[in-house]
Amino acid sequence: MTDRSAVARASNTAMDARTKGKDVLVIGAGLVGAFIANLLANNGLRVAVVDAQYTAQAATRRAVGLATPMLVREQMADTLRGVEIITSTAQRLGVPPRACRVLHLSSSAAGTDALRALYDDLKGGKPKLTWELEPGTISIGFGGGLVAHNSALIDLETLAARLLRHSRISVYEHVEIQSLEWHNEQLSALSAGNTVYTDAIILATNAYAGILSPYLADAAGMVRGVTWSSRPLNDAPALLQRVLQTTPMPLIIDQAQLTVAQTLDGRLRIAAWRKGNQGDPAGDIAQFLHTYLRALARHTDEWRTGVTSLTPDGIPLVGKLAGDGTVLYALGAGIYGPAWAPLMAERIAQLLEG
Ligand SMILES: Cc1cc2nc3c(=O)[nH]c(=O)nc-3n(C[C@H](O)[C@H](O)[C@H](O)COP(=O)(O)OP(=O)(O)OC[C@H]3O[C@@H](n4cnc5c(N)ncnc54)[C@H](O)[C@@H]3O)c2cc1C
Repeated sequence: MTDRSAVARASNTAMDARTKGKDVLVIGAGLVGAFIANLLANNGLRVAVVDAQYTAQAATRRAVGLATPMLVREQMADTLRGVEIITSTAQRLGVPPRACRVLHLSSSAAGTDALRALYDDLKGGKPKLTWELEPGTISIGFGGGLVAHNSALIDLETLAARLLRHSRISVYEHVEIQSLEWHNEQLSALSAGNTVYTDAIILATNAYAGILSPYLADAAGMVRGVTWSSRPLNDAPALLQRVLQTTPMPLIIDQAQLTVAQTLDGRLRIAAWRKGNQGDPAGDIAQFLHTYLRALARHTDEWRTGVTSLTPDGIPLVGKLAGDGTVLYALGAGIYGPAWAPLMAERIAQLLEG
């Protein structure tokens, strides 16, 4: 921690001079900012990326890491393409994804009927969907579920870091941008003690976008979430076996109010949030553990709370702020962040080209 802070302080001091003349400043080094920076750098632009904290430690650090198509008819083709891009990108950058299927369940009869209707409507198409009548022991309390094939588990933290490792990208951690300015035909971003001059700014700040733009404060809601992780279970084979029986594939329950998956390093990770920020997501996680995997509670590694931005229809916001200078934004990836991030980057690149 001490070492990293020292590095961050040193790079802060050097930042003003080194970023001057860069083509683009990306604010936010989460999954979305990393995808944007990487695509723009591949397109030949010079990119500076700043983050108020460390790379990929905010919402990206809390995600379960599931790249899976969005189960909404109109969004399926796009998000499937997003899954294909993030999967091949991870493969290329040496962050091997684990191909998987995802079981969607609902805790209500009406929700299960809706999943079944969706399946009947879309079966035979792409992505491949199947209906699982007895999804293992998890079927207690559930009336069957829809399985989305063509999915993958990815270590998003490592992937974001690898995306940012590029000769045309400079990353500055611990730099919080506090305001944007347009003065004498010059766009700049201000942090404590630093001014970054740039041709274009991309806000990839997720739930914090409203700090820099009142428009964005209203455009995408902020959702609170909680993530629970077990310790790696490789040393507890009996328990790992039980986990594998209970959740043989990643679960998405009640349209992602609860997501459960084994991570690539042998942990079980559960993420939860509630629509409209109602209720207690941590209580939902505790209830799941109590019901299905009581012995796991003793193997708790961490609880993390966090916020992310979510639009009413779950489709991210990508656009240009009104006013002088080129200030673009990309936020609201919500629960399907890994599927949307590459598509958001493509859209930003198109907007920059004009
Ligand atoms: C608790 C929780 C659980 C989740 N679970 C899942 C899940 O299971 N599956 C899933 O697909 N998705 C999940 N998500 C959502 C997923 O994490 C997001 O869709 C995705 O990570 C968003 O990436 P991002 O880059 O937009 O945001 P972030 O990773 O939040 O990155 C934004 C970055 O911007 C930086 N920043 C903000 N303001 C400033 C500023 N003014 N100056 C400098 N830097 C700034 C922040 O420090 C941060 O690092 C979860 C989110 C949370 C909070």
